[in-house]
Parts: sequence; C-alpha cells; structure tokens
Amino acid sequence: MDASTNCWRGIILLGGPGSGKGTQAALLAQRLGIAHISTGDLFRQNIRMETPLGKLARTYMEKGELVPDEVTVGMVRERLKQPDCANGFILDGFPRTIAQADALNQVLADMRQALTAVLNLQVAPEVLIDRLSRRWTCKSCGAVFPEFSLPPRPGCKKDVCDGELYQRPDDRPETQRHRIEVYREQTAPLEAYYAERGMLIEIDGENSVERVHQLIVDAVGCEDGAAQGER
Ligand code: ADP
Repeated sequence: MDASTNCWRGIILLGGPGSGKGTQAALLAQRLGIAHISTGDLFRQNIRMETPLGKLARTYMEKGELVPDEVTVGMVRERLKQPDCANGFILDGFPRTIAQADALNQVLADMRQALTAVLNLQVAPEVLIDRLSRRWTCKSCGAVFPEFSLPPRPGCKKDVCDGELYQRPDDRPETQRHRIEVYREQTAPLEAYYAERGMLIEIDGENSVERVHQLIVDAVGCEDGAAQGER
C-alpha cells in the first residue's frame, strides 16, 4: 500500500437535522485535508443559481421532504469526481436513505475505494428542535450562527462577508418536526445498516463544538492528516 492509499479517507457523518454535522464536517475536513461534501449546501447553491436542479430541489426542501434518490445520487457521483476528493471526503447529509447507501457503495467500488468510517452524531429530538429554532444562516456565504433566537446582527461578519442573515425556510417550526420525522423514518435505519457492516461509531453530539470535534478526532485518528498539528 503506498502513502497516498494510506491517507485516503471516506467518512460519513450521520445525525438528525441540527445535530452539528455541517460544523463538525467542516472542522474535520480542514484538519484532515480532505473535501467536505454537504448535499444540503450543494442543493442550496443550485437554488441560489436558479439551475433546473435547484428548482426541483426547492420543492422538496421547503416541505422538509427528501429530494428523490436518483437526483441526489447523480449529483454526489459527479461531485466525487472533482480533484479535491483525491485524498478523500467527508459526506455530510448523504446518504439519507438505504437506496442512497447502496448507490454510494457502487460509486465507491467504481472508484476502487471503500468507506473508512461512519460517525453517528447522537442528539435527542428535543435538543434538535431547540437548536433549529435558534439557527440563522448567511444568504451569501452559508455561514451558520446557531446561538440566537432573534436575528443577531445586520450582517454576517464572517471573514469579510456582509451577507444578510435569514432563517432557512426548512428551519421554521412547522417544518422542523417533519424533518426530524423524515430522519427517523428514512435515515435512522442507516445506523443499523452500517452497524451490521461493523462501520458505525457513536459520538455524543450533546457536547460543545470543541469537545465533539475531539471525540471525532479520537475516533478516526488524525495522525496522517494534511493539516496535522493545526488546532
Ligand atoms: P440538515 O443538516 O439541517 O438536516 P441539510 O442542509 O443537510 O440539513 O439538508 C437540507 C435539506 O436538503 C433536506 O431536508 C432535504 O430536503 C435536502 N437533502 C439534503 N441531503 C439530501 C439527501 N442526501 N437526499 C435527499 N435530500 C437531501
């Protein structure tokens, strides 16, 4: 096995809406020097750019429903071909159904790769609801501000961004419960799916961002990461 094979990582983050997947995936991707692929972000980008894919995805997302599997799988298959995936990737929000997980296995087999870890961020449903109702997102850069129940300030202020902060339509109370229900019905079965394959690692997601990151680092090991030593 050569060095590049050693470093390659294929990591999945499972967890309900608001469990912290996006935050943790970004931190881990930076630390390991691998791509962060969020299907939710890819759909939102397409919605902003008013592509046909975005127009289709919007109709499902606003109701808290899943975008159909064949559309989502096609988008992920294309994304995994990008050069920034050469050292591997963290998938955030994919797979969300058993059919997507089966399709991912096939895509990875075609790439002659296999998953290295599946992390399940455990957070109780009432904590998810509380977090979603406080979450504000920047319209321009997508930064997430989790800690406020009212719009916190006029502009984003992340790096040099001054984007408008808004509450994602699918974070509103009427949609939240439905998304959690959809998660329980369609995505939670993936926990057993990956546990049966000996891949599932449980992470207690009801800790601080820093603590959850440390639990994840301990679980996956970061000794060969491109950004080793950065904290
Ligand atoms: P969260 O992490 O808060 O659950 P995401 O940003 O991952 O939110 O997803 C937002 C919405 O995008 C989902 O409710 C769904 O409509 C759509 N979506 C994202 N990923 C997928 C997927 N893998 N399959 C189908 N729909 C998806």
